[in-house]
Amino acid sequence: MIIANWKMNGTSENVRTWIEQVSNNIDFKPEKVCVFCPPACYLEFARDLIRNHKSQIKLGSQIINSSHDRALTGGLSAAMLRDIDTDFVLIGHSEQRSHLREDSRAITSKITSAIEENLRVVFCIGEDSDVKKKNETQKFLSEQLEVLKNISLESIVIAYEPIWAIGSGQVATREYIEEIHKFVKNHCQKFHYSEDDISVVYGGSVKLENCEEIISSNFVDGLLIGGASLDPGIFSSIYNLS
Ligand code: PEP
Repeated sequence: MIIANWKMNGTSENVRTWIEQVSNNIDFKPEKVCVFCPPACYLEFARDLIRNHKSQIKLGSQIINSSHDRALTGGLSAAMLRDIDTDFVLIGHSEQRSHLREDSRAITSKITSAIEENLRVVFCIGEDSDVKKKNETQKFLSEQLEVLKNISLESIVIAYEPIWAIGSGQVATREYIEEIHKFVKNHCQKFHYSEDDISVVYGGSVKLENCEEIISSNFVDGLLIGGASLDPGIFSSIYNLS
């Protein structure tokens, strides 16, 4: 799975160009799902373009709110995302955790709401540089993974995104990625799933120059790409090389 996370970037014209170019330039493989997560205001527009191009790009939302929060000004529910045919939703991204003070309870509620509406969840986890320096990454990630303990992992893709690597240009080494992805897959077996049922994608400063090495690492099932996904040419090349 190769996921483009545009964050708070782009215009409707950029969305149009991106979908046109990516649909034409990538060599779609059913086992390598391509997910586009534009800002929420462009979701429906993107959905229409994807349909018009008969493209196999899947639509993902960067945000969702718990279905329990009905009286939430500015909220976006799972039912609304389903209504406009969204396929995926990112939950637990470090930027949402820190900017919106999203805790495990809120994340669990969002995941449950998404699954109830048959959305597939990209559940993001990752440690900051302090945790890494203290050698406490695995303990930290175990705590983040606890929210999955009563959830069916069939609808979940885990995105391991070390915070120190996001947007920093400082990509994790192959050895580190393999160690952590292996740990995540093993840990999730506690929730009664086999290693093969658990997809773990990597995110954090993925670029054209490093994508081949990362994707060829053991235990890596795909990529979550921020900055480098904005350019449709670069994103298409990363998809084709991965
Ligand atoms: C992200 O925000 O999910 C991300 C991985 O960003 P970048 O690729 O820019 O590090």
